[in-house]
Amino acid sequence: LEEAAATGTDVQDHDHHGIRQVLRELGVEAHNAAWSTGLRWGSSTAENTRAIHSPTDGRLIGSVAFATAADYDQVVKTAETAFKTWRLVPAPKRGEIVRQIGNKLRQYKEPLGKLVSYEMGKILQEGLGEVQEMIDICDFAVGLSRQLTGYTMHSERPAHRMYEQYHPLGVVGIISAFNFPVAVWSWNAMLAAVCGDVCIWKPSEKTPLVAVAVQHILKEVLQENELPEGIFNLVIGDAEIGAAMAADSRVPLVSATGSTRMGKKVGEVVGGRLGRALLELGGNNAIILTEHADLDMAMRAVVFGAVGTAGQRCTTTRRLIIHDSIFEDVKARLLKIYPNLPIGHPLQDGNLVGPLIDKAAVEGFTKALEAVQQEGGKLLIGGEVLEGLGYETGTYVKPALVEARNEYHTVQEETFAPILYLIKYSGGVEEAIAVQNGVRQGLSSSIFSLNMRETETYLSHAGSDCGIANVNIGTSGAEIGGAFGGEKETGGGRESGSDAWRIYMRRQTNTINYSDQLPLAQGIKFDV
Ligand code: NAD
Repeated sequence: LEEAAATGTDVQDHDHHGIRQVLRELGVEAHNAAWSTGLRWGSSTAENTRAIHSPTDGRLIGSVAFATAADYDQVVKTAETAFKTWRLVPAPKRGEIVRQIGNKLRQYKEPLGKLVSYEMGKILQEGLGEVQEMIDICDFAVGLSRQLTGYTMHSERPAHRMYEQYHPLGVVGIISAFNFPVAVWSWNAMLAAVCGDVCIWKPSEKTPLVAVAVQHILKEVLQENELPEGIFNLVIGDAEIGAAMAADSRVPLVSATGSTRMGKKVGEVVGGRLGRALLELGGNNAIILTEHADLDMAMRAVVFGAVGTAGQRCTTTRRLIIHDSIFEDVKARLLKIYPNLPIGHPLQDGNLVGPLIDKAAVEGFTKALEAVQQEGGKLLIGGEVLEGLGYETGTYVKPALVEARNEYHTVQEETFAPILYLIKYSGGVEEAIAVQNGVRQGLSSSIFSLNMRETETYLSHAGSDCGIANVNIGTSGAEIGGAFGGEKETGGGRESGSDAWRIYMRRQTNTINYSDQLPLAQGIKFDV
């Protein structure tokens, strides 16, 4: 108990999963600071301290102080100062720092992946996958640091040259969600870093400890390179700190990942000051199974998409739009798989479905199932909250399958839990596409079909209206090389690969006159 008090960690039989060791290795043990500027940690105040419990077994992992408005202000000032130095470092040299961050993440992949799994509740394979995603975006950003290219164009005036260049933007605010507690930060921060920006990260209040761990890893790299504080900053806090960031004109870009409800508020506030908002919000993702689908292949994608991360991915498959000729077959296949899903502690080998993040999420799951049944939906299997040995937290649920109609109010909403709605269509692929597009969100989508006319129609301008549209793979598990994000109420932002970097920079058009004349554009004569 003495040790528990000293470390702030509930030590009792923790180490059957080696978590104590992980916390020690990552420097998170006894952590209690509300903010960090990379090299410095803020001092904590007892009244702001909150306990962080694991959704996997309810144990106290550690406690962490939440930042005050004054803490936040201090961090922004430090970031502003660091920006003046960092923007002058040549981009490929900034890339070199990101390369070293990637290498450190490789070194810490195991413990960090484990902590992601323990604090958030995703299975270890996915926790490690999340850290791999961070490593991948570092590699991508290193290459990018030698590009960041603009166009050159021809001037209409003789002996003139025109081109565009991209300059660093300034302080980038990053608000992240609990379900990808570190990867989404890295998509933003690593691109922003090579672009010459400095970042302030406000992680989810539900998963602050992994953020603390990442900040310790960054500190090693900053120290080894004798870089100043303020390039990578962390401010732990809840919605209030996020809202302060949205309203802060010292932060020219706010990248916010989370619910549509949050995004609407952030978008409005950032828009109100004409800042830039990069919004990555909720999805309501569908897979279409046409009569030409390879069902053996499709089933693996559907189940991973629907129950992976316990339905807590923005790209989770929530709707399955099935041609009526194969509806009964698909239903029977799923009803065979669902009873055997291994649900349990995500650090235990063999389990594929971990817990929901908290009791409120469980309530959301149960309420959505009640509501959809009241609307006429038919619960086929699942929906129970698990009890008994290993399930004492009340956060483990049985993934549900529901026969439903797309227009049901419940189906139109994103419930962040493992509910898969089976929806029948009877016409051609156009009908299935209309059903798929018939929601307010527009993140990820996919079709399983071996018929070229169907798949090409689906990918055409009359096809899927989502930011991600896949053929013969599922809705979740995107690679970092492509731009990630969605349309409509998903917010329209793009992160990660392709040319998503452009939003982190300001664009400038330059015209240079190397003649001894001063011709005006559009042939205007203005003789003085
Ligand atoms: P959430 O909206 O509750 O919180 C997300 C973050 O926003 C947290 O850091 C929170 O503190 C902050 N926040 C909340 N209200 C705010 C406000 N008014 N102003 C500023 N900040 C505020 O979301 P969550 O429960 O953590 O995550 C789940 C949601 O995130 C789902 O809807 C999911 O689809 C979405 N998500 C989207 C993507 C994507 O890339 N599109 C990725 C991951 C998660």
